[in-house]
Amino acid sequence: MNKKSSNTMALAPNTSNKRETVCIFGTGDFGRALGHKMIQSGYSVVYGSRSTQISNLIPKDAEVLGHAEAAQKAAIIIIAIQRQHYNFLTPLAEVLHGKVLVDISNNLKLKQYPESNAEHLAQLLPGSKVVKAFNTVSAWALQSGTLDASRQVFVCGDDVEAKQMVMNIVRALGLTPVDKGSLLAAQEVENYPLQLFPMWKFPIFLSLGLTAFFFFYCVALDIIYTYIYENNNFSFFIAITIPNRVCPVMALILLALVYLPGIFAAIIQLYRGTKYRRFPDWLDKWMLCRKQLGLIALAFASLHVVFTLVTPMRSFARWRTGKGIISQVLNNKTEPLDHTNAWLSDSYLALGILGFFLFVLLGITSLPSVSNNVNWREFRFVQSKLGYLALILCTAHTLVYGGKWFLSPSAYKWYLPNIYILSLIVPCAVLVVKFVLIFPCIDKPLTQIRQGWERNPKYSK
Ligand code: NAP
Repeated sequence: MNKKSSNTMALAPNTSNKRETVCIFGTGDFGRALGHKMIQSGYSVVYGSRSTQISNLIPKDAEVLGHAEAAQKAAIIIIAIQRQHYNFLTPLAEVLHGKVLVDISNNLKLKQYPESNAEHLAQLLPGSKVVKAFNTVSAWALQSGTLDASRQVFVCGDDVEAKQMVMNIVRALGLTPVDKGSLLAAQEVENYPLQLFPMWKFPIFLSLGLTAFFFFYCVALDIIYTYIYENNNFSFFIAITIPNRVCPVMALILLALVYLPGIFAAIIQLYRGTKYRRFPDWLDKWMLCRKQLGLIALAFASLHVVFTLVTPMRSFARWRTGKGIISQVLNNKTEPLDHTNAWLSDSYLALGILGFFLFVLLGITSLPSVSNNVNWREFRFVQSKLGYLALILCTAHTLVYGGKWFLSPSAYKWYLPNIYILSLIVPCAVLVVKFVLIFPCIDKPLTQIRQGWERNPKYSK
């Protein structure tokens, strides 16, 4: 069964149970899509419109009447009209008195009006019970049934009974109501659809900044330096070699940055002797975007895998292999197998494969559909214990790759370390401090603090 049909089924419960009549003001895109879904879910729908002419876009079983006439037929009226037209509702105040008005509107930009649209509606019609809902669901998703990403409907309002009535409709449509409290929350709810990946901003900017830095660092050391001092033109390194250096470095650093705020939090809690004091804002924000940092790290790791797999296809790699063979032929000498190198290269690959496997596992468990099916302990086990194991394996992968070579003077061009050495600073620091933190003499008080014990209760005030 395809995705669309399964969604449609989930959103179309038993139609034999006839439900109450709901009125929708406005026969625009959203009004029509919502009306269509409501009819599928067993509701009778009556539209309040400026024109009572039935067009073939309007759901077949719906009635279209004038606004006042339509409002009289239902206790709940959904206002599927842009906020700037709300003034036309004022003359209808009497007929709308005591009715539940559902404000579904959105704005074009943040802080467009001083108060939320729902509060504005409540001020225009003080005798009605205004509830905010449905604004985060798109007309297209309602109509096509592709509601996987936006099954949650945020609901807020001052009248508890009115809010319950709206939440019942939300459930009947196969969606999940999320109670956001009083109408004061409407501003926040109206801002949701205007936000563009708010949790992704910091991870994306950080990744772009670090990627640019490491890219130019490699260009300087691997292309410019080689050109100046060895008279070799390796500018083609820009296409694969350098990206394949930057990607693993970024993956490792970002993975370490996922665990670094937890280390800071532990140190702060140990220092303060309490968990009842807020972390600094920067740490709170950092903790909230750990999942995004981890997913970007996974993307870099996946690119590294793909770049590595294409290596044998590269003409540079084939040329280098051929050159090695020819030099052995010319010297009439077969190089013996270097067992140390064979061990190092196999261990390096094995560590990378295992690290990447755990990395993928972490990414999969962060998907809502998977994380919703594991309990808190299982989630923590995967994200914390297996996450640290992934960090250990990936750090070891880089260390084994570098091996003795990191210490060789030729690895320092212009006295600058290779980027692999730079990439090890944060992960090694995280692992060393974590290792110290798990010592029983430190772990015990930290666990007690996290269970609510306070060394000096004055800090909790
Ligand atoms: P739309 O297609 O422009 O339809 C709005 C409807 O409002 C019109 O079809 C018209 O209905 C009515 N209308 C227009 N001018 C009016 C006036 N001067 N006086 C009275 N009624 C008037 O807009 P929409 O996309 O359906 O959006 C409606 C509301 O839903 C908006 O507040 C929007 O922010 C919100 N919303 C939309 C979506 C979406 O995906 N489209 C998603 C979430 C929320 P009649 O011709 O029948 O009178």
